[in-house]
Amino acid sequence: MKVTFLGTGTSSGIPMIGCDCKVCSSTNPKDKRLRTSAMISVNDVNIVIDVGPDFRQQMLSNQVKNVDAILITHEHNDHIIGMDDIRPFNFNSGKQMDVYAIERTAIELKDRFKYIFRNEAYPGAPQIRLHIIDPQVSFEISGIKITPIEVMHGRLRIVGFRIGDFTYVTDAKTISLSEMEKIRGSKVLALNALRRKEHHSHLTLQQAIEVVQEIQPDTAYFTHFSHWLATHEELETELPNNIFPAFDNLNIEI
Ligand SMILES: [Zn+2]
Ligand SMILES: [Zn+2]
Ligand SMILES: [Zn+2]
Repeated sequence: MKVTFLGTGTSSGIPMIGCDCKVCSSTNPKDKRLRTSAMISVNDVNIVIDVGPDFRQQMLSNQVKNVDAILITHEHNDHIIGMDDIRPFNFNSGKQMDVYAIERTAIELKDRFKYIFRNEAYPGAPQIRLHIIDPQVSFEISGIKITPIEVMHGRLRIVGFRIGDFTYVTDAKTISLSEMEKIRGSKVLALNALRRKEHHSHLTLQQAIEVVQEIQPDTAYFTHFSHWLATHEELETELPNNIFPAFDNLNIEI
């Protein structure tokens, strides 16, 4: 299995428009962070998690030729608003795109993208087959088992996903003990770490480290960084040995 971090920045991206802080003005390419998304490739099956505003650019820079399915963690704009750009995959495959989301997120998608889900959609509109998932029930995509992990994003119940030895959780603030058990045993954990200061709906850097210490994967990669946190270089020095700051277009084999 191969995992590609397509984007590792929070909702405003890094650099943030109009900001000349140390992180935003860094010349290190690893400090250029598009909105959070990842792609999991097993054999020839590509599964993308979240389709944010940078989806088109992410597909182009990673030369992605096919996407078999899209998993949506939650309905915040930075995780869904690139949906219109799935059209080239529809044109190339001649098929609908399979999109998986929990019920509330699916309702939100239908509302935000009315033109896609209308009965007589405009020709050329994205073609989507929406699958509503139960956050407590595993499902399969082309024989690949996907286990949703329910986490709290402030007061919003959202999902992460475990695929084999890899678990991807973004936008979490708290994770219940029973959901922690579902993550346990993962070799690699991707987890959000927003900034140092307390935030109502995101793990801080310290809280994310504590989650990793509790679950004890072999390695962890942090993502969904804000410009308030630190430069990539500073994070690399500061984080414990088995925790790495992810960066855009990072590829890992599991
Ligand atoms: Zn900044
Ligand atoms: Zn969010
Ligand atoms: Zn987010």
